[in-house]
Amino acid sequence: MKNVNNFFKKKDSSKLYLIIFAILFVLLIVRIFFTGGGTNVANTLIANKTEKKTPIELSFSDVLRRANDIKTMDIQKDNVAIGTLKDGTPYRATITYNPELLEKISKNGATVSINNTDSLWDGVAKWLPILVSALFLFWLLRLMRGGNNGGGITRSLIGQNPTKIVTGKTKTTFKDVAGIDAEKQDLMEVVEFLKNKDKFKTLGARVPRGILLSGEPGTGKTLLARAVAGEANVPFFATSGSDFSGIIVGLGVAKIKEIFELAKRNAPCILFMDEIDAIGQSRSKHTINDNDREQTLNQLLIEMDGFSNETGIIVIAATNRPDMLDAALLRPGRFDRQINIELPNLEGRRDILNLHAKKYKIGEQVDMMNVARGTTGFSGADLENLLNESALHAVRVGHKVVEQSDIEEARDKILMGPVKNRKMRPEDIKLTAYHEAGHAFVGTHYSDITDPIHKATIIPRGRALGMVQHLPIDDKVSMRLDEIRANLSVFLAGRASEEIFFGANKITTGAESDIAMATQLARRSITMAGLSNKIGMVAVNQAQTFGQRIALENASEKTAESVDAEIRNWLDAAYKDAKTLVSKNKATVEKLAKALLDKETLSGEEIREIVSGKKTAKKVTKKSNAKK
Ligand code: ADP
Ligand code: ZN
Repeated sequence: MKNVNNFFKKKDSSKLYLIIFAILFVLLIVRIFFTGGGTNVANTLIANKTEKKTPIELSFSDVLRRANDIKTMDIQKDNVAIGTLKDGTPYRATITYNPELLEKISKNGATVSINNTDSLWDGVAKWLPILVSALFLFWLLRLMRGGNNGGGITRSLIGQNPTKIVTGKTKTTFKDVAGIDAEKQDLMEVVEFLKNKDKFKTLGARVPRGILLSGEPGTGKTLLARAVAGEANVPFFATSGSDFSGIIVGLGVAKIKEIFELAKRNAPCILFMDEIDAIGQSRSKHTINDNDREQTLNQLLIEMDGFSNETGIIVIAATNRPDMLDAALLRPGRFDRQINIELPNLEGRRDILNLHAKKYKIGEQVDMMNVARGTTGFSGADLENLLNESALHAVRVGHKVVEQSDIEEARDKILMGPVKNRKMRPEDIKLTAYHEAGHAFVGTHYSDITDPIHKATIIPRGRALGMVQHLPIDDKVSMRLDEIRANLSVFLAGRASEEIFFGANKITTGAESDIAMATQLARRSITMAGLSNKIGMVAVNQAQTFGQRIALENASEKTAESVDAEIRNWLDAAYKDAKTLVSKNKATVEKLAKALLDKETLSGEEIREIVSGKKTAKKVTKKSNAKK
């Protein structure tokens, strides 16, 4: 999930990894410290024992041959022995540790010693890690044996890690969920069941055991599941599919068992499983034979089949890839109820904004409906984040309450990136102003069929040097042909204005994204929506290939050619239209450009005033000091 809230989600499996890493770390330290120490001790010992003469080197066969000559032998680690010969020559030998040899040497009156200090250290260094690992393995084994007789250790690992045990009941209720009323309604039945199992039993009504919530990240799946528990006043256990795929084979199975055990003991309850696709991915979908995951999935299926409806456990799973799930999961008696949570619509966004706005001090002039209009495609989590960013911005600039300008700034930052402190040449700034003025003018000209202009700016942000933003009045479900043609003109008006004011050889690359968007809109209208008479109502599928080229599938070469020609026709017509509009109204466009150079940002109202030639003084002051 690219969701910002992700960061705050408790990934409790990390604790397990932490423990493992901690142990590995300790082992490493032990290893370094003790082996290091050991060598040092050995070295000093060698240094002390060796007399001034440098020792001669003896091979093992030399030692065997000259066993009689040896006076002392001190056996070090790594099969090294040092000592002196009977004639006083120090030696150093490589030996194989072998009792017979020692016996033979000592029989001849030599003193044989084993370097105790060294081998003690060495022993510790060798054995401690093994001992610790053994203890760790023992602990894991107990863990894997599952919950039946696991006792304290098992309970503490599984109980605290993937499972958030909400011992008190969750306080979240449906009141905390806004904008998805239909989905709430769907889940009301589950709440009723949890509250009143007996009634359902006498009626013989079948209540789903498993509910699958699908939807993009941040659409409120977790929130909704929690709210069901809160509404029904039952415990909520949350876990995530990604917690079950561990480094230890068999751990997933044990964890599944454990969590269902826990649920059974606390029924009626909600068992929430986020990111179920992590274990429930279709078996054919992954190429590597991931046996562990398969076992975990099987265990989940076994558990789902294993409890009877009366138990009162409702398993709610969430995913943003329902298409990836193994069909076995969706069979009756498992996750047979699917609820898809869409991104919130306009009203939904307003409601979610209003709900979260309670946490902040929001200025009175802020109109949440307006904010909702500018946030098409935002999820609930995105909206929450937007308000948070706005509040941060308000603090940064020293506002007492969150103002419209703070929200505006936060939104632009989320959508387009932070303001760039790019040094721009004055002529580039000027050209940008005329470019945006072209968009703004043609946009205003078509304001009865296109989305009203929200603002125009020449403050660079992200990759854009400037921009004109439109605010839809409503969520779009479809577009009319005249609206599409008007939009194409608006898209190309930036370039048109550049050409008219600066000349055909001064046009810039600044229209790149305008042209891309216009082309895409025209292509979709022609090849998919059947809006072109020349091509007709034929769906010409298009496949996006690498290198940005679009290849046409399902189309003869001839069709492909005429599609390309038709797109060109549309764009040429739009460009011609935009150029006519700008050149006929050069003075007005110039006025807009000068105002942009002067103020950097113009509100929709200011633009409309300039275009219509009327001036209502009061509005201008309010906006112009809101933005620097
Ligand atoms: P998901 O599980 O779908 O990724 P979450 O339930 O974790 O999304 O949503 C993250 C946060 O976004 C929630 O805690 C909540 O603050 C906010 N949120 C998302 N959807 C809604 C909604 N419909 N109403 C209110 N808040 C929402
Ligand atoms: Zn442009």
